[in-house]
Amino acid sequence: MSVLIFIDTAEGHVKKASLEAMTYGSKLAEQLGVTAEGVVLGSVTEDLASLGKYGVKKIHHVNNPALDHLDAQVFTQVIAQVAESTNATIIVFSNNVDGKAIAPRLSVRLKAGLVSGAVALPDTASGFTVKKNVFSGKAFANITVNTERKIIALNPNAYKTVAGEGSAEVVSFNASVETAKVKVVSIVKASGEVPLTEAEVVVSAGRGLKGPENWGIIEELAHTLHAATACSRPVADAHWRPHNEHVGQTGIAIAPNLYIAIGISGAIQHLAGVNRSKVIVVINKDPEAPFFKAADYGIVGDAFEIIPKFTAAVKKLKGL
Ligand SMILES: Cc1cc2nc3c(=O)[nH]c(=O)nc-3n(C[C@H](O)[C@H](O)[C@H](O)COP(=O)(O)OP(=O)(O)OC[C@H]3O[C@@H](n4cnc5c(N)ncnc54)[C@H](O)[C@@H]3O)c2cc1C
Repeated sequence: MSVLIFIDTAEGHVKKASLEAMTYGSKLAEQLGVTAEGVVLGSVTEDLASLGKYGVKKIHHVNNPALDHLDAQVFTQVIAQVAESTNATIIVFSNNVDGKAIAPRLSVRLKAGLVSGAVALPDTASGFTVKKNVFSGKAFANITVNTERKIIALNPNAYKTVAGEGSAEVVSFNASVETAKVKVVSIVKASGEVPLTEAEVVVSAGRGLKGPENWGIIEELAHTLHAATACSRPVADAHWRPHNEHVGQTGIAIAPNLYIAIGISGAIQHLAGVNRSKVIVVINKDPEAPFFKAADYGIVGDAFEIIPKFTAAVKKLKGL
């Protein structure tokens, strides 16, 4: 018996969300008295053994270049082989883009109950009950899973990464890999220094910025804070910013440690994508803007006056 953790990579590097999944899966394995193992698909540039510091004892590496790009059907089929051969009773994913594409498919294939959007370790005192976010983060539900095999997709930034000591045994797994039905023709990388879904700090702006020509102050603040940039939907719809920056109900859902919302009213559809942020700072000239109700800190004032001063203060603090 083992807990198997899917270790997600991008361009050969392990994603931050996978470090959380490994910490979570290892803690769960410890709770159940079984071992934590990982599975990595495709080429990697990182030293996989060093991931042992997140608690995984063994990593199964399917080192096949056909797995360098996500094809959810192929990945599902390969992870199923690893899960069966390692007798994994629980499989842990991050509930990120890749996890959302693979976990439900694997759930069907292995007839395993799935809890997606988990935010805490399962309660295993009697049964197996997992707490998860529902209604776009507005409430929690406790889901009891009765199937023998179980799958958990952990919400990004819901479980703190803990790095300890130790190294993992890395073994090569010889899986049969189907020919992908989807062919990657080209890859267009999102602009920005920090990927939005991995960012600890996000600087986001809305229609209050008046036009795309004013985004320089947002980018400068983001650069100073080593943050990713995001925007509200109308901003992306108006092509002021690329669509991959659009956060909210119909955009990306994020959960950074710090979300700075500038000139954004705080409509419910926007909040649905950002309300899992640990700390929310709102800058808006309207004291009645609904976003202030969701804010930990608020500044009432004109963004065009506040942001340059804010950036200058951060630079001074950082000695830049
Ligand atoms: C089905 C559906 C799905 C949707 N999905 C999303 C989604 O995923 N994400 C999303 O963001 N929206 C979404 N929306 C749209 C959402 O309802 C709002 O219309 C949108 O979020 C508003 O964007 P905004 O806050 O940038 O603009 P506005 O509502 O126009 O707000 C601009 C804010 O800027 C402030 N402001 C103006 N000038 C300044 C200044 N100089 N300094 C400081 N503050 C200033 C104003 O006081 C105001 O609060 C969706 C809507 C629908 C119907």
